[in-house]
Amino acid sequence: MSGRVFNYSAGPATLPVSVLEKVQGELLNFHNTGMSVMEMSHRSKEFKGIIIEAEQLLRELMGIPDRYKVFFIQGGASLQFSMVPLNLLPRNETATYIHTGTWSKKAMQEASKQGTVQVIKSPTANSIPHVTQQDIHQHSHYVHITHNNTIEGTRYSELPETGSIPIVSDMSSSILSERIHVADYGLIYAGAQKNLGPAGVTIVIADEGLIGKQSEDCPTMLAYQTYSSSDSLYNTPPTFSIYVVKLMLQWMKEQGGISTIADANYEKASLFYKYIDESSLYHNRVDSNSRSFMNIPFTTDSEELDTLFIKKAAETGLVNLKGHRSVGGMRASFYNAMPIDGVTSLIDFMKEFEGTVRREAHA
Ligand SMILES: *Cc1c(COP(=O)(O)O)cnc(C)c1O
Repeated sequence: MSGRVFNYSAGPATLPVSVLEKVQGELLNFHNTGMSVMEMSHRSKEFKGIIIEAEQLLRELMGIPDRYKVFFIQGGASLQFSMVPLNLLPRNETATYIHTGTWSKKAMQEASKQGTVQVIKSPTANSIPHVTQQDIHQHSHYVHITHNNTIEGTRYSELPETGSIPIVSDMSSSILSERIHVADYGLIYAGAQKNLGPAGVTIVIADEGLIGKQSEDCPTMLAYQTYSSSDSLYNTPPTFSIYVVKLMLQWMKEQGGISTIADANYEKASLFYKYIDESSLYHNRVDSNSRSFMNIPFTTDSEELDTLFIKKAAETGLVNLKGHRSVGGMRASFYNAMPIDGVTSLIDFMKEFEGTVRREAHA
């Protein structure tokens, strides 16, 4: 493949060419420092400028209220599965986890090492349960949700009603993809490599009232307090990843901010679902009001055809359409950086493939 492909990977995922070009242009000599961002001290004024601007852009784009802190942490969303209970769940007390898929299960498993987990389960993997205050343990310290289930292709269209119990949300695959009210949440976390930039950094947005509650034996690097009191510079942060996240945030602002991006994402996903629902070859089994805008799993009528589909698509430059190994079939991820052309090109290919299959069936 000599040119760029359309990359439907669920993560690490496609980035805008203009962002990659900016990285390329600044790679050897960042702003006349004579060095690359990756060679620069994390205590330098240039890097401090980058991390401060990244936080400001994030605050502006998401409308983050002042009482929330923003952290840049390593270890991926998976480390947050441990950090959340270590910081918010006193030993042997209860937290509520709404179980909607593979990632929520991993989050629950880590919390159960710290305390008691009340599990509220989806009736099926194809939908998000409706949860009200009566469903939630009275003394629960928080309610954990996986806002967008990257593997199952489901998404919360309404948040659980939790009263005064804070919602902790894994937004790894949906952060900045739609309008949300940060104040509805106690804590939000997201690995960058889906919607925000390269792997290596995880964004945590936390109500300051939830910070500093860790037990005394909590390791320093696992306490939110450490990131809060050092502005995420207690030790060397993933400097280059933070720099690319900053460029991505700038790009999102240039696009017109979250409103514009959310509308574009809705349009992309709607176009795709409409085509699938009208087609007799392709299926997506997610309940209509739980459908993800970011990750769309689909299948044909047979595994053989799925395999052929993935192979033929890749030959035309439409890559990484293989579904997660736990569910099979195909999956198309349409994150912020996926242009509408990436969606229409895929639909065009699907029409052509369907035509070929139908003709061969009649031959
Ligand atoms: C990708 C993903 C994770 C895991 O992220 P890592 O950064 O690899 O730890 C967790 N939750 C969700 C919803 C994801 O999409």
